[in-house]
Amino acid sequence: MRVPNVPTNPLQTPLTSIRGVGPERAAQLARLDLHTVEDLLLHKPRRYEDRRHFKKIKEVKLGEATTVFGKIAACGLKTFARGTKSVFEVILKDETGHLHCRWWNLPFMEKYFRVGDDVLAFGKVKGLKPRTIDHPETEVLEPGEEISIHLNRIAPIYPLTEGLPQRWLRALVWRVLHEFEEFIEEPALTLPTFPGRANAVHMLHFPSGFNEAEAARKRLALDEFVVLQHAIQLRRKKLEANAKGLPCSGTNQLIKQFLAALSFQLTDAQTKVLREIRTDMGSKVPMRRLLQGDVGSGKTVVAACSALMAIENGFNVALMAPTEILATQHFQNFRRWFSDLKIRVELLTGSFKTVTNFGANDKSQPTLLAATSSSQPATLYIGTHALVESAFMPQKLGLVVIDEQHKFGVAQREKLVRKGNYPHLLVMTATPIPRSLGLTLYGDLDMSVIDQLPAGRGKIKTYVRAEDKLPKIWDFIRQKITEGRQAYIVYPRVEDSGVAGDLKAVTAEYEKLKKIFAPHPVGLLHGRIKAEEKEHVMNAFRHDRVKVLIATSVIEVGVDVPNASVMVIENSERFGLAQLHQLRGRIGRGAHDSFCVLVTPAKNEEAMERLQILEDTNDGFKIADEDLRLRGPGELLGTQQSGMPKLRFGDLVQDRMLVERARTLVRESLSKI
Ligand code: ADP
Ligand code: MG
Repeated sequence: MRVPNVPTNPLQTPLTSIRGVGPERAAQLARLDLHTVEDLLLHKPRRYEDRRHFKKIKEVKLGEATTVFGKIAACGLKTFARGTKSVFEVILKDETGHLHCRWWNLPFMEKYFRVGDDVLAFGKVKGLKPRTIDHPETEVLEPGEEISIHLNRIAPIYPLTEGLPQRWLRALVWRVLHEFEEFIEEPALTLPTFPGRANAVHMLHFPSGFNEAEAARKRLALDEFVVLQHAIQLRRKKLEANAKGLPCSGTNQLIKQFLAALSFQLTDAQTKVLREIRTDMGSKVPMRRLLQGDVGSGKTVVAACSALMAIENGFNVALMAPTEILATQHFQNFRRWFSDLKIRVELLTGSFKTVTNFGANDKSQPTLLAATSSSQPATLYIGTHALVESAFMPQKLGLVVIDEQHKFGVAQREKLVRKGNYPHLLVMTATPIPRSLGLTLYGDLDMSVIDQLPAGRGKIKTYVRAEDKLPKIWDFIRQKITEGRQAYIVYPRVEDSGVAGDLKAVTAEYEKLKKIFAPHPVGLLHGRIKAEEKEHVMNAFRHDRVKVLIATSVIEVGVDVPNASVMVIENSERFGLAQLHQLRGRIGRGAHDSFCVLVTPAKNEEAMERLQILEDTNDGFKIADEDLRLRGPGELLGTQQSGMPKLRFGDLVQDRMLVERARTLVRESLSKI
């Protein structure tokens, strides 16, 4: 409901023009990213405090988080250790007893309290003789203050920044809420069983019960998901309206040849996905497909077949991979696979800068591609993000394949796509994406899943072990080497931080391990090694000349050396579960049984417990769900630029149903226009 004579949205009023917000307060609010009335109204309380009834001081229980209300009977600062340490103490009293509030080494706290003040203190009761709370959160009530805001209610406790008092902020929210509530509009898309938006904002800050606070959060979360879904689905809708597909429905001649020469048969899951892709690529609308398949499920061959569909129809193809190692590996594979088919494959990475042409020579000029209108035969370009950034401007780009999509942002993906005229898009990821996250981030893509591993793979057994077992682990690796296998050993850092007891660094450990595994050759691989050197080491490992590869997580994506059957990950507590699962996916690619050992510093029981899930399951989806729960979407996706929008209210773990409902709401509404 907008007031007709207000020209702009009043909720966009800057907080600086609100009475009582001076420059200093405005700066503090800005530190919390609160700039407008709307920002303030959507500032989510960190928690709520039930101030309808307080425990008497006598009733507090040891170890319990409690709010008490009392008057300051005495307070004072004590310093000791020659003035380097201090404790400031406030003694609160009510009619039943005394409570000691203490602040260690924060002498300036002294200036906030005076004897006789009425104080609310919240914290965990640390002792009963005397009753003590250390570092409580406190609010001093001022005489004559509006008690309806701060007392006798469920009070919101907000995230703060230094110098900003809780009470002041609460009073500001109260005032702004009452002034601006009427301008909060009801969004067009909503669900009848949810409270209205204005009402929800009110209940978010000043609920009359805890259930109201949650109902408010849900409502605001729904609105957030609706906005996101709208953007995603609109993008898709525009694509369908504006883009003409590049029909790629030939005889599949190339694919047939390719598959006939392959040393294995496609799995049913691969075949099913290829059928979906073929339908997409033959249709009037460009393909937009996300292919999920656990590590080792064989996504690369699917990409190869898709590329052949485009190439057969005379289009160029771009395949982007997140690391040079992976791009080079793809380049080697595709060149091998496609050379018999007389298809040009080119590599473009940051360190090569220019397109290196490894294409077929003239006398093998492809005949199948005679239909191509341009004189240049259809080519598969493989590269890193260099494809996005460079002057790479292929003619007739028919298909973009993005491998390990979670390492790229949505923006990068779109940038590459825009180098063509609505090419088909296939994005592949081995990080299983929980559905709520998938819909929020990749909702404009159709999903395919390869839910089956190729037959004949050995099992992967995973063990969580403390560091003191390392000598045994090295023995085990030596034994595997004599059996003909190879191993990876992974560290979280490249170089020593210089801090004792910090994470192990790959360069330092490499020197030690060289001796430990002598005479077996070991190799070192990390992001700061020069490209040619990387390639050299990787090739030596691929060809079994290096037995143990000591690396950082650069090997996380894509590296495919089936003979490697052991992986040891040190400081494994530093990696996310999904990332560990990815790393572990480097082994178990051959027929031999594989072994993954997750090592943590001794006594880290909490970490060992968390890692347990990797011992228990190989199911990437379960692991990703757990990672999402423990660390949130940004971490799960493992990249700062994942394009994951910031959610204030929505929670992808709890709100799966809400995401679905928002999606349906938006879909229904968009289908009407
Ligand atoms: P990812 O899905 O992790 O990218 P890759 O495409 O690298 O997996 O495939 C892993 C390994 O499995 C490769 O060596 C590949 O050649 C092999 N592979 C793929 N599909 C099959 C299959 N149907 N049968 C046997 N091996 C396969
Ligand atoms: Mg792969």
